[in-house]
Amino acid sequence: SVSFTHTKHHAKWSDKQTEALAKLAKEFTLSTAQLEHLTSAFLDQMQSGLAGDHKSSDLAMIPTFVAGRPDGHERGSYLALDLGGTNLRVCLITLKGNHELESHSRAFKVSDHLQEAHISELMDFIAISIKEFITSEHISSKIVEHPSGSDTLELGFTFSFPVTQTAIDAGMLLRWTKGFSCPGAVGNDIVQLLQEALNRNEVNVHVAALVNDTVGTLLAHSYKHPNTFIGAIFGTGTNGAYVEATRSIKTMSHPTAKEMIVNIEWGNFDKDKRVLPVTPFDNKLDRESINPGVHVFEKMISGMYLGEITRNILLHLIDHRLLFDGTSSQKLNTHWAFETKFMSQIESDTSATLIPIAQILEQELGIYLNTQVDREIVKAVCQMVGKRAARLSAMATAAVVRRGLSVEGHFAGHGYPLKLSEGDHVFGARTGVHKNETATEGVHERTDSAVDHGGNLQQINVGIDGSVFEHYPHFKERMFEGLTELLGPRAKELVALGIATDGSGVGAALAALIATKHCR
Ligand code: BGC
Ligand code: MG
Repeated sequence: SVSFTHTKHHAKWSDKQTEALAKLAKEFTLSTAQLEHLTSAFLDQMQSGLAGDHKSSDLAMIPTFVAGRPDGHERGSYLALDLGGTNLRVCLITLKGNHELESHSRAFKVSDHLQEAHISELMDFIAISIKEFITSEHISSKIVEHPSGSDTLELGFTFSFPVTQTAIDAGMLLRWTKGFSCPGAVGNDIVQLLQEALNRNEVNVHVAALVNDTVGTLLAHSYKHPNTFIGAIFGTGTNGAYVEATRSIKTMSHPTAKEMIVNIEWGNFDKDKRVLPVTPFDNKLDRESINPGVHVFEKMISGMYLGEITRNILLHLIDHRLLFDGTSSQKLNTHWAFETKFMSQIESDTSATLIPIAQILEQELGIYLNTQVDREIVKAVCQMVGKRAARLSAMATAAVVRRGLSVEGHFAGHGYPLKLSEGDHVFGARTGVHKNETATEGVHERTDSAVDHGGNLQQINVGIDGSVFEHYPHFKERMFEGLTELLGPRAKELVALGIATDGSGVGAALAALIATKHCR
């Protein structure tokens, strides 16, 4: 039996197969030491990103102008827009206070054509979809109270791409990701582009706020769960946002609030591959993508890419005559044709004979001749790629937790009752405090544990959205394995990973509320 997978092999692998898989496993396995190394690089890049030193950081660390978090008492009806993948969703969210809400929504398909059409065409499509939603759903009758007092609807826009914000309702697109490439958008104000389209199409809606999906997720989770400090997406793409101490955001000139949500844009971590253990399979994927050389980290983690990495590995094994007797299929030879969804299905098969995997290979990929050894190998490959993704996700999450708990961070400081209890190590031997930092006594009572004076543990809530986190088998458990290695044996008590239901929709509504409350 071979020890690098969790499945027992029932069939007999050849020596060459065993050897090749062991070599791959070596490339794809991330040791605790490697994760630790990546975590410190990530922390360094967070720090230089916050300082505005973008020569030494690939992390944009974007101040979002969202200061403060909801506590669940917020009320009012808002339109919410969610654009980030193949669907555009328009929602009406009614926040009812008491952590409760009601939502109506409708999805509109964003065609392949629209994903690369001129931005004005995409924005017109959005405006018309909103118009359709408002009329067909009789929205005006569902509105409990108009926050602005006029009959203009206030809208929050969750836009899941990197935008450098200059206000909660203004921001410039930095670059497209995840298959979008509409000309006319990069460098322009997304809110303005949408507002103009709404006006052009005579839709009486005001764009009050623009947020990244990670920010929306953080806000939405916070409405339901106190102590939410991080929002993360593990879906088509990946990214995280967290609550930072405004004094630590050196790129902001006149901060007024104490805390602000920062959009990390962690998909772009270490884009020059200085520390990331990329394999030839990752490099191939990157080269052949529509955005080569950026978001390299995202390409090792998120749903848009995992299947393609797996496909590259399978083809490599086929070319060495170690899989499917050296024969591929037209489908398997097709760029992007191996979906991450297939990996989920393959990893879910725990039967001895792996017949369900045979069905996927046949029906989805046109591979009709597959032996049990073939199926075991395919499953082992999926496990390697899936596990690496989860461990890298854990690494990013652990880095943000450590940052938040450091003396410069915000989790243990204002309003968060984390207190030091000696001898109770959450980080094990490794602490989250940078070596050159000294805690100011009384103010930033830095802690290596998450136990308060009364001995109570104060958990850090992480709101998470995305298909990979929700549907990929073992993803959460694998993340917790990594978190435990990086945060210590009590990681599960320190950090709660929760699904933020409709984070993007509810988050956009909350952002609109925050914006209109502050402006009026
Ligand atoms: C984008 C982020 C987004 C993430 C998850 C990435 O490709 O750059 O802005 O948060 O995908 O949707
Ligand atoms: Mg989304």
